Amino acid sequence: MADTIFGRIARGELAADIVYQDDDLVAFRDIGPQAPTHILIIPRKSIATLNELEPEDAPLVGKLLLAAKRIAEQEGIAEDGYRVVINCNAGAGQTVFHLHLHLLGGRPMRWPPG
Ligand code: AMP
Repeated sequence: MADTIFGRIARGELAADIVYQDDDLVAFRDIGPQAPTHILIIPRKSIATLNELEPEDAPLVGKLLLAAKRIAEQEGIAEDGYRVVINCNAGAGQTVFHLHLHLLGGRPMRWPPG
């Protein structure tokens, strides 16, 4: 798949405000935050969109969600509440084609989303 800015961040080629990383994941602050806490959590593995996920990626998806939970606790937003979003493809607003979770919190959230 095509390289992306998130692929470059995952490989350490592009700077980011990283809050967590391990062998499988990198989490960093969004440069255009939509809430007081807005963190992106990405797999190091290149997966363009949710549509490209394979059954073998199930453990990786579990790690992404567990990281979201842990980071929400670290950021102090777990009790009040937070939102985890995956935009899939352009119609949903995806602009960077490297799978990522948005972790948003620190303000009241409305439903339905825009
Ligand atoms: P999406 O629209 O779901 O593809 O989300 C892409 C997100 O990446 C947006 O919220 C952007 O603000 C964010 N973003 C783009 N470039 C960077 C970057 N270099 N570092 C951190 N966040 C970025």
